[in-house]
Amino acid sequence: MEKPVLSTDVAIVGGGLVGLSLALALARADIRSVVVDVDDPSSKTVDAFDGRGSAIALGSARVLQGIGLWPYLERHAEPILDIRVSDGDSSLYLHYDHRELGSEPFGYIVENRYTRRGLYACLAQEPRVTLVAPDTVAEVRAESTGTQVRLQSGTRIEARLAVACDGRPSPTRKAAGIGALRWNYEQHAIVCAISHEKPHRGIANERFLPAGPFAVLPLPDAPDGTHLSSIVWTERPELAAMFAKLPDDEFVDEIHERFGWGLGRIGLAGGRWVYPLVFVQAESATGPRLALAGDALHGIHPIAGQGLNLGLRDVAALAEVLADSARLGLDIGAADTLERYARWRGVDTVGLSAVTDGLLRLFSNDIGPLKLARDIGLAAVDRIAPLKRVFMRDAMGTLGTLPRLMRGEAL
Ligand SMILES: Cc1cc2nc3c(=O)[nH]c(=O)nc-3n(C[C@H](O)[C@H](O)[C@H](O)COP(=O)(O)OP(=O)(O)OC[C@H]3O[C@@H](n4cnc5c(N)ncnc54)[C@H](O)[C@@H]3O)c2cc1C
Repeated sequence: MEKPVLSTDVAIVGGGLVGLSLALALARADIRSVVVDVDDPSSKTVDAFDGRGSAIALGSARVLQGIGLWPYLERHAEPILDIRVSDGDSSLYLHYDHRELGSEPFGYIVENRYTRRGLYACLAQEPRVTLVAPDTVAEVRAESTGTQVRLQSGTRIEARLAVACDGRPSPTRKAAGIGALRWNYEQHAIVCAISHEKPHRGIANERFLPAGPFAVLPLPDAPDGTHLSSIVWTERPELAAMFAKLPDDEFVDEIHERFGWGLGRIGLAGGRWVYPLVFVQAESATGPRLALAGDALHGIHPIAGQGLNLGLRDVAALAEVLADSARLGLDIGAADTLERYARWRGVDTVGLSAVTDGLLRLFSNDIGPLKLARDIGLAAVDRIAPLKRVFMRDAMGTLGTLPRLMRGEAL
């Protein structure tokens, strides 16, 4: 039987949070897309698929508003009002209070399962996006006037441009011959939700321990009023596997051991997940008729909760570049269009990846003089108001040359 041929403007490889957000953003500019994903969408909406909650910075929340996703997330989004960064049990710490900048929160914590469900619900009402899943992209071939994408099922997609949103391993990036800097952190992240006696008051806590950072992030209360938070706990791989299998009461004791009793008695609220942590930075954001976005372009440590935020910045920048090009009647897959995107995203992604990695190396040890120096550093940043404001704006994702969607403007 003849295999179908889908004709579209943009072929998006990978329907993770970034690929699906990009499809919605492009639709706002009347650009059609086909998104291909390996997984069956029904398998990705069950609670067991992903236990993570993501810190969505204020700038990223504006992108989600601009693409029509926010109404689906609003009631699942907990505002981050304070950020407290501390070094183990040291009494010196850095404290960001959103009121020092105005009334808006730094961002929101949203569990990924709600974001994913919201994305599917939006896509179901969007005629300019076709989701092909489950299926696998087997080949992406750039030609002079377009790109041909071949799927394992035999379906073909003809588009002007392909965008690789296929995550850290990114087979599309590899097949295009774009190299990447890559290493394993030798750390895994244990992720789970906890219930606790006292309210969190919108405080996000990040504690640097010798094995790696330990974060407690505020979630909305459950419908019965139970206070909830999300935990990201980094450990050496063998210890992470061991802790993840502990009986519930011993696991909770380990959390108290690391975080203390500030939230009162803690309980487990759901399952536990373990994620290996890998760093990836692509050498280029583009290739012939190809752009990279999200973890395919930059996979960073969750220490600063910025991975998805970087991906949403890619979405906002790429959608803007393509929308401008399309409005002028230009070829959206042409080299000069892609060059604009590559220039825009290059500095931001390399800069944040380097800072995140440097922070991690500085804090993931217990060497006496280093610990003293960084504690003094934390306390100093805490007292130097202008420097602190820069860091706070960075956490909000409102620094730098922002794409229109991140400024809260229409595409
Ligand atoms: C423990 C942890 C905590 C985190 N916390 C935060 C946080 O607080 N804030 C934040 O901003 N970020 C956070 N992140 C990072 C964030 O989760 C990722 O950056 C984000 O999910 C990446 O999305 P993506 O769509 O680019 O990639 P992925 O989610 O990896 O999606 C890639 C998709 O491509 C598909 N695919 C792959 N190959 C093919 C192919 N050949 N054909 C078709 N489909 C294909 C895959 O099936 C997958 O669905 C965290 C990460 C971890 C590990």
